[in-house]
Amino acid sequence: MLECGYCEKLSAYHDGRLDATARSMLEQHLGHCPVCTPELDRLGRLSALLKGAGAVEMPVGAMRRFHATAEAAGSFSLNRLAEALTAVAATILVACGLWMWSLSMTGRSTRAPVWEASVLQRPSETPAGQEDQFAVWVVQDLSLENGHDSN
Ligand SMILES: [Zn+2]
Repeated sequence: MLECGYCEKLSAYHDGRLDATARSMLEQHLGHCPVCTPELDRLGRLSALLKGAGAVEMPVGAMRRFHATAEAAGSFSLNRLAEALTAVAATILVACGLWMWSLSMTGRSTRAPVWEASVLQRPSETPAGQEDQFAVWVVQDLSLENGHDSN
């Protein structure tokens, strides 16, 4: 399809929505444009066809069923989503509560692993077992006595 810069103004011209200057410029252009003249003619025929068709109304029973179905579908899906999200949140809450309760019963929540306890203790208090020797080295290496943090 051929294009013309004036084509986008044809609908406004057809509906009488252009100001006097724009309308005058378009009318001068229409006299010699092979694109705009047939397009304006097509717009006129389409407009006349739509005016002649008239409005079609939906039967009363069909409109009532349409509204009932739309309302039922909308409230049903929102209620189902809210129920599902509530169930998921409650499940997570119960699971976390049980997990924290089991931790408190075993005492694991208050005892740190050996390597963490070794790092938190002063180097002189650190037991020198094999399993935490690495932590002792890390603490000694990071201490101020080795000059790493002295500025
Ligand atoms: Zn044109």
